[in-house]
Amino acid sequence: MMKKIIQQLTSSNRVLLASHVNPDGDAIGALLATGIGLEKLGCEVVLYNESAIPAVYRFLPSVDNIQKQLTDLERFDTAVILDCGDLSRVGSAADSIATIPVIINIDHHTTNTRFGQYHLVDVDACATSEIVYRLIQAMGIEMDTAMATAIYTGILTDTGSFRFSNTNQAAFSTCEAMVAMGVKPSTVAQHVYGTYSLGRIKLLNLALDSIEISNNGHFSIMTVTREMLADTGTQPEDADGLINYARRIQDVKVAALIHELENGNGPSDGRKRFHVSLRSDGSVDVSRIASDFGGGGHAGAAGFSVVSSLTELKRTIYSLSDGFCGTCHLN
Ligand code: AMP
Ligand code: MN
Ligand code: MN
Repeated sequence: MMKKIIQQLTSSNRVLLASHVNPDGDAIGALLATGIGLEKLGCEVVLYNESAIPAVYRFLPSVDNIQKQLTDLERFDTAVILDCGDLSRVGSAADSIATIPVIINIDHHTTNTRFGQYHLVDVDACATSEIVYRLIQAMGIEMDTAMATAIYTGILTDTGSFRFSNTNQAAFSTCEAMVAMGVKPSTVAQHVYGTYSLGRIKLLNLALDSIEISNNGHFSIMTVTREMLADTGTQPEDADGLINYARRIQDVKVAALIHELENGNGPSDGRKRFHVSLRSDGSVDVSRIASDFGGGGHAGAAGFSVVSSLTELKRTIYSLSDGFCGTCHLN
């Protein structure tokens, strides 16, 4: 598959690169590294992400090349979709992107649907950025510090700073190679984890205060409402990583972060749109829970979106905790 993908990319004139809505460090890192790499081959590339790039990732090289709008779709030979378990994860442009003649799917989600003609899907990879590094090497593209910074950031953030269960040998060996290319771990860490606004820290305070635990102590729920964002002057991106606090509690197997979304054209009957992030301690496969709700992800980290009332949603999530020990175990 790798060979065919390389053939396809080297024979393309204009390539669209896209990653998932509300991008994390891996979605952005993989996008930038692939973009810089293909440009070195003389390819015309367009980098696309529907959402704004979170402030903590705006230090990344070439980040200003990422576009929020797509034009001249008919002029693309190939689309490379990065860090997306299914094509709809790119957002509202999914149907238009589906018309591009060849789609290459590069990803590491267990729930990947194998969309597109070519797949480079490795569910054991720590991050899509690591798969991108392998592709760049296989293509003989010379690495530089800009690409290395993007790949390092992707792996650092997707492994939760080398703490989550996807942290494997390749996470370290790839990052070691990136450091050898000139990446400064402390500089990246300072940008990603050390430049929070005061509002973001205040939001942490409200989010910690919202934590509730199920009767059996195995399930925690944290809630971030639009009101909390308004009160602290923060953006949805400022809720990134908050769920890890709910997961760290002793005996908690699964943590859920209920994130109220903008209502948009949503229902006017009191129900709201929510994104639910799930994290597990390793004993429960949360990607299965997320799939049941039309979402997806990994065994240890997954998510889905729903329209519901907050009370109803909490009740639904708590009722899941009864099912844990039966259907959702990893082994
Ligand atoms: P999050 O809920 O944003 O913390 O995401 C956790 C993991 O699940 C990430 O790898 C996401 O890419 C994935 N994920 C989140 N929401 C969805 C969704 N609606 N469909 C498929 N995968 C998702
Ligand atoms: Mn991602
Ligand atoms: Mn990823």
